[in-house]
Amino acid sequence: MVRVVVVGGGIAGIYFTYKLLTLTKKAEVVLVEPNPYHNFVIGVPMAYAGLINFSDLLFPLSSLKRVRHVRDRAVSLDAGPSIRLERAFTLRGDYIVLAPGAYKVGTADYWTVEGAEALYQKIVRAPAVRFVVSEFTPVMGFQELAYSIKTRFPEKDVSIHLVYISDDYLFLLEPWRASAARVGVQVSMDPPPPDGLHISVPAVRPHPIAHDLEVNPATMETQIERVFLIGDSSLLRLGLPPVGWGALWQASAAAQAIASEVEKGYIEVEAEEWSAKDPDKFRQWLTYRMTTGTPLAHLKGLYDLWKKLFSTL
Ligand SMILES: Cc1cc2nc3c(=O)[nH]c(=O)nc-3n(C[C@H](O)[C@H](O)[C@H](O)COP(=O)(O)OP(=O)(O)OC[C@H]3O[C@@H](n4cnc5c(N)ncnc54)[C@H](O)[C@@H]3O)c2cc1C
Repeated sequence: MVRVVVVGGGIAGIYFTYKLLTLTKKAEVVLVEPNPYHNFVIGVPMAYAGLINFSDLLFPLSSLKRVRHVRDRAVSLDAGPSIRLERAFTLRGDYIVLAPGAYKVGTADYWTVEGAEALYQKIVRAPAVRFVVSEFTPVMGFQELAYSIKTRFPEKDVSIHLVYISDDYLFLLEPWRASAARVGVQVSMDPPPPDGLHISVPAVRPHPIAHDLEVNPATMETQIERVFLIGDSSLLRLGLPPVGWGALWQASAAAQAIASEVEKGYIEVEAEEWSAKDPDKFRQWLTYRMTTGTPLAHLKGLYDLWKKLFSTL
């Protein structure tokens, strides 16, 4: 049996674990995650729209049967490879898969289910809701929240203010303005008016544990043998937008790489659809996703699948 230590029980860490355990019976997973719950943050817009309860988005890690959960925080990657934990012991693995998400610069209330629910209580009372984006790498999530709020509370004035937008993504602005206008949300490059509730959309950076790691875009292995980096930090290191669909693609590639090495002695990865290889196709995909947001019906489908896959772990 090989031991795979997974750091971070978010979308990438959980999907990686599911894929790996599906592909090989010769691996065991130890999951390092400081929270007692997996937070299915992609589903928060469904709770904002009133389709499900916030508590439905929390998956207790105590229910895991095939995965050992270590409730702790990783502080550094050491030789071995091994992971040093906050509570001062070290976990060694045959493989280490880092999936700690991105470091958020500024407030990131809606990046946990608990924070999103607290924010929702403020939104209910606010006459206007203004999302303020001060550095625009295309992070998903806030546009879905804005659309859900406007749909549920049509009387509220809901707007998105891109006070800074990177030149690389300016092409998104016009199509986005048009599709947001169809649901009654304004998108502009003006600063927000002082009224209403201002919600800052955090800028994102690679997690400190990942900041000097290079990622092989085919396997997600880093320059350190048997150490992999997946999810938002990895996408940022590759110069790609940190979105959940990308995290799923990376988790799948890393799981295939490790499972094939364990089973056959060599690495074999079949690239999936979302490989961002064709720049034109990728640009089209990104424009569609960023401007329309993920439709709630798609989120519901993903959530139902997620419940099934989590129950197998
Ligand atoms: C409201 C909202 C809606 C979204 N909607 C969409 C969407 O529709 N489509 C889409 O593609 N993307 C969407 N996204 C973006 C998507 O959720 C992220 O890209 C995705 O969650 C990234 O997965 P991840 O596992 O890399 O990081 P995360 O989901 O952030 O998980 C990281 C995990 O690592 C843990 N961790 C952090 N530091 C440590 C440490 N030192 N040691 C151990 N564990 C640690 C954290 O506690 C967390 O559980 C949305 C995001 C939000 C907030």
